[in-house]
Amino acid sequence: MGKILMLPGDGIGTEVMAEVRRIIDWYGTQRGFDVTIDEDLVGGCAYDEHGQAISDAAMEKAHQSDAVMLGAVGGPQWDGVAYDVRPEAGLLRLRGELGLFANLRPAICFAALADASSLKRDIIEGLDILIVRELTGGVYFGEPRGIEDLGDGQRRGVNTQVYETYEIERIARVAGDLAMKRDKRLASAEKRNVMESGLLWNEEVTRVIGNEFPELELEHVLADNCAMQLVRNPKQYDVLVTDNLFGDLLSDVAAMLTGSLGMLPSAALGAADSEGRSKAMYEPVHGSAPDIAGQGIANPIATIMSFAMALRYSFNRGQDADLLEAAVTHVLDKGIRCGDIMQPGMEKVGTVGMSDAILASLNELQEQYS
Ligand code: NAD
Repeated sequence: MGKILMLPGDGIGTEVMAEVRRIIDWYGTQRGFDVTIDEDLVGGCAYDEHGQAISDAAMEKAHQSDAVMLGAVGGPQWDGVAYDVRPEAGLLRLRGELGLFANLRPAICFAALADASSLKRDIIEGLDILIVRELTGGVYFGEPRGIEDLGDGQRRGVNTQVYETYEIERIARVAGDLAMKRDKRLASAEKRNVMESGLLWNEEVTRVIGNEFPELELEHVLADNCAMQLVRNPKQYDVLVTDNLFGDLLSDVAAMLTGSLGMLPSAALGAADSEGRSKAMYEPVHGSAPDIAGQGIANPIATIMSFAMALRYSFNRGQDADLLEAAVTHVLDKGIRCGDIMQPGMEKVGTVGMSDAILASLNELQEQYS
């Protein structure tokens, strides 16, 4: 039996996660998905309860689970709390202690939403790319770092972009594995023209892919050109692997191609153990949306699609993941929308209404996926 730890967090995190629980229950009764679900606090609510953004007990549960499903953390009421116990510290602790070094961010453009993108329909319709971002290294963690007082009225801020071979090897392997399961095309983005860490990245990715995934077509692209290409012709990419900093930027660019934050799922994976299982955390890309929290209008699709990724990557249930993604597509094709993706002439629903519609589509479509 599998184990899921749910960490709904703050703001709309609790609202969208309640809908994921209904979807999981449906998979339990209809598709024999056998899991135990535990729940705990993360973010501002954990700070209010324990004085830290995630308790040791919740961390222990995360270590024992096959998948962590996280909602969102943060909100203006915690803006003043100390840096090391701020809500986001809970996310960083989870990622760090679970060793979640690979961040998977798909950017999929649903045909029904193509007009919500800021790009023309023909450029983004049918878009399906997967950005694999290195998550635990690079400039966000490198030493030395800090702000130094130079004593003459000047200060110096320092961060260090640093990668070692093993960090590049393992992310290249995750990306190579994923590319083999998709279109067998991998692009790798860095800035080898101006950064030694980029040169090392380029050389190590070339070596790992050449030795371990000889069937893959590997392309190297400079990260700034990649940003331009993502806007000019995003469909040229299938899987794109890049470091922490460039991945942060490029995945946001790719995300916006698809229209709304309320639609974007993500996964963070660790290294596979001897049985091929990885620690994993699944979460929507959006935050706690304090501006709409408590109103029952948050779009739950990003979190529900994150659960589809959990089905695929943590529970090896690809067909169940396909079914859930098809159910979401079906609902959008029927013209059912939450406020963030509302278009003229469509039927507007709230958080619960959207998952009601997805559950109805699951019932309608499930025979095609057995
Ligand atoms: P946000 O993603 O919470 O919201 C940005 C805008 O998108 C808001 O107008 C919001 O209403 C809308 N939005 C987001 N998700 C939506 C959904 N599912 N349905 C409908 N509309 C949606 O980003 P923000 O406003 O910059 O940050 C709010 C808080 O969330 C901050 O405290 C921030 O630190 C935190 N945050 C947390 C995470 C995380 O938990 N991973 C990520 C980003 C921001």
